[in-house]
Amino acid sequence: MNEYAPPITNLIDNLSKMPGVGRKSAHRMAFYLLDAPRAECEKLINAIMEAKEKIHCCSICQGFTDNDPCAICSSPKRSDNVVCVVQSPKDVIAIEKTNEFRGKYHVLHGAISPMDGIGPDDLKIRELLQRVGGGLIDEVILATASTVEGEATAMYISSLLKPFGVKVTRIAHGLPVGGDIEYADEITLARAIDGRQEL
Ligand code: ZN
Repeated sequence: MNEYAPPITNLIDNLSKMPGVGRKSAHRMAFYLLDAPRAECEKLINAIMEAKEKIHCCSICQGFTDNDPCAICSSPKRSDNVVCVVQSPKDVIAIEKTNEFRGKYHVLHGAISPMDGIGPDDLKIRELLQRVGGGLIDEVILATASTVEGEATAMYISSLLKPFGVKVTRIAHGLPVGGDIEYADEITLARAIDGRQEL
């Protein structure tokens, strides 16, 4: 016998769809779960379902939250005038850790990538333009990744923001080229925001 029973193969197939999980890790996870007590598997299933049910996009910044608007958008201590545009909700956490930024965020949920079939309409760009159109925002900081997709997205958004007459800046390149914001250390990230340049 050189094949697993279909339910095992199915479990491995589904686990290997997760980012960063290769076939080998998926195997290990599947057999771990098969050996684990039923209660532990149920805890995992419930945690996934609870997160799926309770977490949604903030109606203002589009970040993940269990309250709408999210804690950052509803904080009176934060400036409404500066908005930092990031690709992923994880980037918000990374920038928050620097303790340097006191403005608000806008999460795009991706970057323009024709190769992957992701166009501007698949991102939360329309929502950003609506916010800027509201007139409260003076500066938009483009903090997308320094990848080809991140740069293309920053350039595209900056061209859309021109008619609004707001200051548009791009974070400095202390960031590793090809690097995602979430992997930058706090000091590098704080410097990148500090050293941002007007586009
Ligand atoms: Zn929010």
